[in-house]
Amino acid sequence: MTIHNRFCPEVSDIVAVQIECTHCHATISYPPDGWNPITLKCPNCAVTLVTPMPQAKELMALAELSSALKTLRSSSDLPFKLRLEFDRQDR
Ligand SMILES: [Zn+2]
Repeated sequence: MTIHNRFCPEVSDIVAVQIECTHCHATISYPPDGWNPITLKCPNCAVTLVTPMPQAKELMALAELSSALKTLRSSSDLPFKLRLEFDRQDR
């Protein structure tokens, strides 16, 4: 028998959006309602994490994620609850 241990927070449970620099592994945490993905530079090694080109699709996706989180977190009268589902791993 396999027991799946899942964690299902609601959008309102998100306390931060974290981005990790793949160059030096420093992390940056932004409040879910107020981050600006256009100015993403690593605060540790100063590598530009997102530039308009050639990562335009990724930049648009980050902007859409920021906007979607802001909208969903401020909508209190929706007839549903949106939860994200993660496998829980004990480390
Ligand atoms: Zn870095």
